[in-house]
Amino acid sequence: MFIGDGMGENHIANTELYYDIKLSFTSFETKTMVDTSSRTTLNNGYTPTDSAAAATAMATGTRVLNDVVAVDAWGEPLPSITELAKNDGYGTGVVTSDLITGATPAGFSAHSKKRTNDAAIVMSQIDGTIDLLLGSGSYSGYIERMNEKGVTLVTKYSELSYDMPKNAPRIFATFTDVEPSNNTDDTPNLVQLTTFAINFMEKNFPNAYFLMIEGAKIDKKSHSNLILDMMENVIDFSNAIEKAKTLVTGDYTFIVTADHETGALELAESVEQIDNSIDSENKSSLYHSTNHSTANVPLYYYSTKGDVHSMLNNDVILNTNVFDLCCYLLEIEVA
Ligand SMILES: [Zn+2]
Repeated sequence: MFIGDGMGENHIANTELYYDIKLSFTSFETKTMVDTSSRTTLNNGYTPTDSAAAATAMATGTRVLNDVVAVDAWGEPLPSITELAKNDGYGTGVVTSDLITGATPAGFSAHSKKRTNDAAIVMSQIDGTIDLLLGSGSYSGYIERMNEKGVTLVTKYSELSYDMPKNAPRIFATFTDVEPSNNTDDTPNLVQLTTFAINFMEKNFPNAYFLMIEGAKIDKKSHSNLILDMMENVIDFSNAIEKAKTLVTGDYTFIVTADHETGALELAESVEQIDNSIDSENKSSLYHSTNHSTANVPLYYYSTKGDVHSMLNNDVILNTNVFDLCCYLLEIEVA
């Protein structure tokens, strides 16, 4: 499963226009749209989702308020797709170009009443069952806890190994950053992280695995209205998907979607219009907001089995249906 954070239809279309290319996932045969709403209360009215509520909807099948990471209204953990998959014997992993405490990776690997409670998210990830976590951040204050829970901490790309020690077979890798233009030991790019993650899963969980891979900075660059940087991150995300296709063996299904749209981005008519929209600070006037919008986002689906769940024949599905779809594909029975 690939999530382009903040990646609306026009982020994709403008990137294809600007670079005069077809992205790796837009040719998937099946495409539907996803309603990204989070849960609302009577007094807060209707606001666009944040990444925490959106990740929770896709990872657990439950809509929660913004800021909430995979817990219910009473603060109790909601079982996530990675936990359910692990229970059924799958390998599970989360890869992101964000901090691995970020709201999207956290939704698939942790539980917390607040997305900003980093310590709770880290502890929840360590005490949980996820086999692989790759992204940026620093977990050096949690070494002892990780040793107790069988987690190996890695901070350099070259230190990643497909053969893990028996007493610490789970890997958490925290880099200085994850950037498209880089491929250094401290700051790898999403293609490199995806390459390691797929190879690690193919070797250690040859029967079956679930991976969520996030292109996080499509959102961050859109908050700043930096269209060129945003498109560079869409390319890195697309390249990661293309690379993944060459590495997986046996039957597989790819779901490529977004958690919400960011920036109310307008569809450009020409490359010149994109170039002319950029001011001296590199901000583009094609953006009409610096926040998330309520626009539906696309979901692209490809499976070697060719089977398509009937829900994907609908024009619009709910973000919670993404969880239902994952359960269906992984043959997970939900009570
Ligand atoms: Zn955002």
